[in-house]
Amino acid sequence: MGSLLISNGTVVTLGKGNRILHVHDVACEGGVITAIAPHGKLPGEFDRVIDASGKVVMPGFINAHMHLYSTLVRGLGKAKSSADFTQVLENLWWRLDRKLDLEDCYYSALMVLIEAVRHGTTTLFDHHASPSALPGCLDAIARAVREVGVRASLCYELSDRDGPEVARAGSEENVAFIGRCRAAKDDRLSAMFGLHASFTLSDATLERAATVGRELSVGFHVHVAEATSDQEHCQREFGLRVVERLGKFGVLGARSIAAHCVHVSAREMELLAETGTPVAHNPQSNMNNAVGVADVLAMLRRGVLVGLGTDAMTVNMPEEVRAALFVRHLAEKSPSVGFAETLSTLLVNNARIANRHFPMRVGELRDGYAADLVLIDYEPPTPLDEGTFLGHLAFGLSQAVVDTTVVGGRVLMAGKRLEIDLDEAEVAARARERSRALWERF
Ligand SMILES: [Zn+2]
Repeated sequence: MGSLLISNGTVVTLGKGNRILHVHDVACEGGVITAIAPHGKLPGEFDRVIDASGKVVMPGFINAHMHLYSTLVRGLGKAKSSADFTQVLENLWWRLDRKLDLEDCYYSALMVLIEAVRHGTTTLFDHHASPSALPGCLDAIARAVREVGVRASLCYELSDRDGPEVARAGSEENVAFIGRCRAAKDDRLSAMFGLHASFTLSDATLERAATVGRELSVGFHVHVAEATSDQEHCQREFGLRVVERLGKFGVLGARSIAAHCVHVSAREMELLAETGTPVAHNPQSNMNNAVGVADVLAMLRRGVLVGLGTDAMTVNMPEEVRAALFVRHLAEKSPSVGFAETLSTLLVNNARIANRHFPMRVGELRDGYAADLVLIDYEPPTPLDEGTFLGHLAFGLSQAVVDTTVVGGRVLMAGKRLEIDLDEAEVAARARERSRALWERF
């Protein structure tokens, strides 16, 4: 990988004091950004120059909660209709994940990671389940991550729902992958310890996971109070709220991710803040499953670091943040609250979460930061500056087309053409074959 110059673009730095730099160049070498300067001012020769005129150049997007395994379900009409969230899991997701084999995991991940490149998403936090593809499913997904070239944090969602054998294998999958990931020292891959959710984890399983996680000093990625049923179960069985129960076992913390938190009390929000536990808000999924709307503003007010995930609804992060904004307004019954706060979940907070998990600093265009950047076709119809940028992101850039995606200085797509060593049509054909067979077994 040689040096790269992104030339003559509108550079959006993000980070503290986000700057909009018109007619600027970004130089990258050795996987990091080495300089940002007015167009034509950077000396030296570059191995490759990409023209960014008519384009916004900004950090690649980060997805704080994803399920790469869900791709092969698209269009599957065999699941019974569900009356509530528990039935969605029983009728669809748990039926599906039990049928996935190792190749399904690989192709499911590969397809949607290519879509991520097409939408400028360069870092993803995945949460995986495939009880019949243990051991080895995380390696299959890691292979897809390496082949596509994005950054990803992987974990296996430990659960008691498929019995003690699968629970033991799920725990071992986490431990083995964490070990291999650390030994590999690949700055694109990171590992967490995955937990499904309080309502499918016994005290004994949670205790064992917490002990192992502490020994490995690793964060936990867990679904928290996504539906009211998780809270009802927790209070009925354990006399505790979900966040309290997770806190009791020590699985909260700055390197963990609590996905959803739709039904958390003020006291639980305080616990999340006290322990520094980030929350991943997934508005499109929450709307789709009709589970409610997380009170993001209340969590932010209490000092909780709230980021944005998609729960596999999309890999298009500007679309997700736009949905977050609309559902915020609807929930608050006000068209004018939470605009900057909602946008900050994607643009600021996701970078803070990612920077706890990857050795390279991401989420900002700045000297020494990872050269993870996207070029988006965008001729702004109104002035684009620091004061107007959020409006352009929500209402313009979210509708624009990503032209170029770079991760760690490596060009994965340029001029909307993939530059990875995979034939997208061939991969899609294989994925369709696999889904046909998977749907037969479903
Ligand atoms: Zn999820």
